[in-house]
Amino acid sequence: MLQPGATIGILGGGQLGRMIALAAARYGLKTHVYAPDDDSPAFDVATRHTLARYGDQAALSRFVADVDVVTYEFENVPAETASFLELRRPLRPGARALTITQDRLTEKSFVDGLGIATAPFHAVSSEASLEAALNALGRPAVLKTRRFGYDGKGQVLIGPNVEPRDALASIGRAPAILEGYVNFSREVSVVAARTLDGGFAAYDVCENSHRDHILDVTRVPAQLTDHAAAKALDAARRIAEALDYVGVLAVEMFVVGPDGDPDILVNEIAPRVHNSGHWSIEGAATSQFEQHVRAICGWPLGDPSRLGRIEMMNLIGDDVGRWHTVAAEPSAHLHLYGKGKARPGRKMGHVTRIFPR
Ligand code: AMP
Repeated sequence: MLQPGATIGILGGGQLGRMIALAAARYGLKTHVYAPDDDSPAFDVATRHTLARYGDQAALSRFVADVDVVTYEFENVPAETASFLELRRPLRPGARALTITQDRLTEKSFVDGLGIATAPFHAVSSEASLEAALNALGRPAVLKTRRFGYDGKGQVLIGPNVEPRDALASIGRAPAILEGYVNFSREVSVVAARTLDGGFAAYDVCENSHRDHILDVTRVPAQLTDHAAAKALDAARRIAEALDYVGVLAVEMFVVGPDGDPDILVNEIAPRVHNSGHWSIEGAATSQFEQHVRAICGWPLGDPSRLGRIEMMNLIGDDVGRWHTVAAEPSAHLHLYGKGKARPGRKMGHVTRIFPR
């Protein structure tokens, strides 16, 4: 168990790393953020930082010698970086969670292997395998790169008039999976934490709506039957257990079927704190960031209970210009990430509003 005063190493310097560092500070813990961009928003609030590439072994050696545990705020940590660090300090969540979730084919096969439903999928490595997969799944279908996809990047919808060759070219002919198109009624996520000794605590199921493939609004609780919510929570718990997971994870899911008796399909696992859990900073007894810090430090988990009906809205790109209006709203909780330029699609901050239940 790490004592107050210990140092958490965080790979990645974005807003998630920043909010982990802020939560750590609350518990008297120090943070050392490692990131390759000099304008990393987490640098502003960390105790120490290293500006270096993830493959820089000399910098990694100095970093790891300075910390007591290593965590990360993004899932594309290179495998060599993860194993280099894991040999020297506890890496939480472990490298296995990264390996499985970095590749959509491995990830979907893993979930499928647990007996948890996903969209139907086929591996695609060539035009011939794409044509075979299209024949099996029908159109429309969604072609996704196996690696490095996020916020809708690296994926293309194959409708009736799309040539397989063009679809493959549009994702750079990268190794891919083809998924059957899911006619979902809602998108939901479960954010949960698991401890070293198997303790588990989940937040209420969140309902997410996207704008241009980027999370726009999260509402909690999701509009789901109790049965479907229990199914979603159970899927997240089984995934966390099978990964022997330590820390906070998020599982994104599609809700399908009739409103009265819906079913859940797992779409993606994020081995980290997640945008759809930001509401928990003010909206839950313990935030996802505190929960992550507690789990990776070997501390007991806090209470994830929700404090009201919640709406969390991202401030994306120019939205951030509204910050002063939000600041004037007495019950709105404003978060700004301290980023420089408000480029289109860039997450600049978020606002949480809590309503009586
Ligand atoms: P992903 O990168 O897998 O998280 O996908 C980004 C978004 O694309 C999801 O949040 C969905 O809105 C949509 N999407 C992804 N996969 C499918 C699918 N198989 N069927 C329908 N929509 C999808």
